[in-house]
Amino acid sequence: MKQCLIFFTFFLSALASAASVQEQMAQNPAVKAAIEELVIANHILYDQNAVDGYGHISVRNPSNPNTFFLARSIAPSVVTVDDIMEFDMDGKALHGDTRVAYGERYIHSGILKNRPDLNSVIHGHAPPILPYGLTGTTLKPVYHMSSFLGEGAPIFEIRNVAKPNPDTDMFISSVDLGNALSQSLGLQYFVLMRGHGYAAGADSIRKAVFRAVYAIQNASIQGEAMKMGQVQYLTPGEAAIAQETIEKTIGRPWQLWSERVKKP
Ligand code: MN
Repeated sequence: MKQCLIFFTFFLSALASAASVQEQMAQNPAVKAAIEELVIANHILYDQNAVDGYGHISVRNPSNPNTFFLARSIAPSVVTVDDIMEFDMDGKALHGDTRVAYGERYIHSGILKNRPDLNSVIHGHAPPILPYGLTGTTLKPVYHMSSFLGEGAPIFEIRNVAKPNPDTDMFISSVDLGNALSQSLGLQYFVLMRGHGYAAGADSIRKAVFRAVYAIQNASIQGEAMKMGQVQYLTPGEAAIAQETIEKTIGRPWQLWSERVKKP
């Protein structure tokens, strides 16, 4: 009887991984909620200037830690539930889905594979972020809202890892480059990509969106402050305490931002 039960459980989990994205949404309320939130997050990121025609956000499958959901190759502001694809941790599309995927899906597979504590990853090219990677200036928390930046965001240098030629198209277009970016991120939540953009991660979609938006605001404020004089950054202690407080309240901006992108 016990063996029968084990076999049945195995059969059920095999069935779950074989189910298409639409079937999983119909069968599993957690998957449905995650995908619907992912669609709203795409629209918010565009509305908040964290992405433009380019950029993307992923979420780990709540019913399978070894897969994640990400839109097909399409502008974030027009993503719908029907555009969501499922990938494995090597960035391979599942269910025989042959639609064109983002070339940089390896940003998501690399970080989600190496960081089991993160469930959502965002990538974009927001202009205020760029000067830091270009000059090697550390992006550090100037206020409580971006305290998750801790002691400063690392900068990923693709020339140090691209093989065999350090000159590339700058894209994270392979499993190896996704892993290298994840190594640069280390145990932090935000990484700058020199001459390209950023990647942000969190344990939830809402927190990942919060971090992307406020890291970009921090970049603008820090840039202005640096023109005026010596900048007082949050100390590592202030950053840790402030992060604890502020990240309990992320439902508030999420409500504001999601109201703004509601379709009539
Ligand atoms: Mn990119």
